[in-house]
This record gives sequence, structure tokens and C-alpha cells, in this order.
Amino acid sequence: MSLTAAPKRVKRGWMNLRVERIVHETHDSDTFYLVDADEGGRVFDYIAGQYLTFRFDDVEAKPLVRSYTMSSSPCQADFAAVTIKRVEGGKISNWFCDQVKVGSVLRARGPIGKFVYEPGVDRGHLIMVAGGSGVTPFVSILREYASHLGQAGAPQRMTLLVSHRSSQDILCGADLQLLMGQPGIAIHTTLSRENLEAAGYWYGRISDQKLAAAINGAYQTATFMTCGPQAIMDQAVAHLRQAGVEEAHIKTESFE
Ligand SMILES: Cc1cc2nc3c(=O)[nH]c(=O)nc-3n(C[C@H](O)[C@H](O)[C@H](O)COP(=O)(O)OP(=O)(O)OC[C@H]3O[C@@H](n4cnc5c(N)ncnc54)[C@H](O)[C@@H]3O)c2cc1C
Repeated sequence: MSLTAAPKRVKRGWMNLRVERIVHETHDSDTFYLVDADEGGRVFDYIAGQYLTFRFDDVEAKPLVRSYTMSSSPCQADFAAVTIKRVEGGKISNWFCDQVKVGSVLRARGPIGKFVYEPGVDRGHLIMVAGGSGVTPFVSILREYASHLGQAGAPQRMTLLVSHRSSQDILCGADLQLLMGQPGIAIHTTLSRENLEAAGYWYGRISDQKLAAAINGAYQTATFMTCGPQAIMDQAVAHLRQAGVEEAHIKTESFE
């Protein structure tokens, strides 16, 4: 649910999106700010956690299609943004980061997906577990609900446990840092290949111990969402099942 009074813009079918701004997030990821190529502004309404499917006609002989989740929040009314992390040897993620420039026009359709917070169905505490680029839906969700936690349509509390290789790999780190200080929001970043415990980061891969520390006993009072590499999702889901969390309160989104 958005706090903005912006008029609804629901476009169907393939849309033309112009890249208005590109922010270099890390050594291997960029955020692309997209606007309506014809009229400017954001083309479509969406729910935090949803994605767009892009179609690329000029990369190979056959068209290629890839999905990217909005890392922006629906309350940011002037644009939608996607954050793309390069996959080693990947055709589109590297093409996107190398070839797409300010002014490029991309074809996409959407918004698509049910990997969202559902008021009235989900519990008041939303606990999110991510690895790498799998954090993008949660960046959107945190941005969307942080300012009105506990109000109608929003969770009461949000917790994020996210894993990256090193501090150089943290996506949307500055925004997450700002949100961390807010009441009702807890963000734990664990670095698998760099020990920065003195600076407040956790060290090592996501494990049962880290999941238990982040969840802090809230197994029956939270709804859980997990996204990222399959191994992290599998570990989180196994941990939650072991703790007796109902399937209805475990949501997953695979990026692979
Ligand atoms: C619903 C959905 C939302 C997504 N949102 C995002 C997003 O917000 N940001 C983002 O960066 N990516 C996201 N992805 C992943 C994205 O769609 C592509 O799969 C990814 O960019 C790789 O595409 P590619 O063409 O570069 O790699 P390909 O040429 O398709 O694959 C190259 C190799 O990499 C492996 N591979 C493919 N995808 C991944 C992956 N995600 N991680 C690790 N290895 C992989 C393949 O198995 C293959 O071996 C999302 C995927 C889905 C299904």
C-alpha cells in the first residue's frame, strides 16, 4: 500500500521504459531508474516484491527474456528501479550492466508476482532472509513499509537477514543503513568471506545459528519470506519447518 496520492497507472502488455539514471551500486551491480518512454514518470503501479519481465531482441538471434524485481518502492512515484547483479558468464545481466545507458529504451511487461506482504493474511512481523541479488524484493518492501509500520496495510515489525560475500558486495547498503536505525526494523548483514564483526556485521554463511539469532524466537508470530541462491532458500525453509512454522507463513522466490 502506497502513501502517495499519485494517480494509478496500470499499463498492460509490453511497455517502453527509458533509463533515466544509473547508479553504480557495487563492483558488479547497478541500479537502473526507469520511466515511461512516452510520457515520463512511472509507467505502472506495483506492490513491493513484484517484478518485471524484460525482452531483449538484439542480444542474440532469438529474443531473450529475463525477470528483474523492483528494488524501488511503490511510494517512489516518479520511477521504478531494478538492481541488477552480474552473473558470471551470464548473457543479460552483463549486457545490461555494460550496454544499457541513460536514454536507452527497454521493453518490459508487468508488474508480475505474488511474493509480497499480504495484509490480513500475513502475520504482523515480517522476517526476510536473502542472499546476494535476492535482497531486491526486500529492499523494496523495507522502503515501502518502513514509514508506516503498525498502520493499516503494513506489518508491525520487519527483520532482514541478508548474506553477501564481502562489504564490497552489499546491495543498496546506504538505504538499508538508514532504515536500520528505525524502531521496529532489524537488519542483520552477514559477510561470508570478510570478518567485519567489529563493525557490526555478522561473519560466515547463513546457518541455523544465524537464522535462530535473527528470528529470536518469533517462529509463531512472524511470516517468513526468503529469496536468493537455492542453497540459502533451502536452508531457511528447512530451519523454519524444523521449528514448526506453518507452510502458509513461508514464502519463497527463486531467482534461478
Ligand atoms: C522472479 C525473478 C526476479 C529476479 N530479480 C532479479 C533482480 O532483482 N536482480 C538480479 O540481479 N537478478 C534477478 N533475477 C535473476 C535474473 O532474471 C537472471 O536470471 C540473471 O540476471 C542471470 O541472467 P543472465 O542472462 O545474465 O544469465 P544466463 O546467461 O541466463 O545464465 C548464465 C549462468 O548463470 C546461472 N544463473 C542464472 N541465473 C542465476 C542467478 N540469479 N544467480 C546465479 N546463477 C545464475 C545459470 O544457471 C547459467 O549457468 C530474477 C529472476 C527471477 C526469476
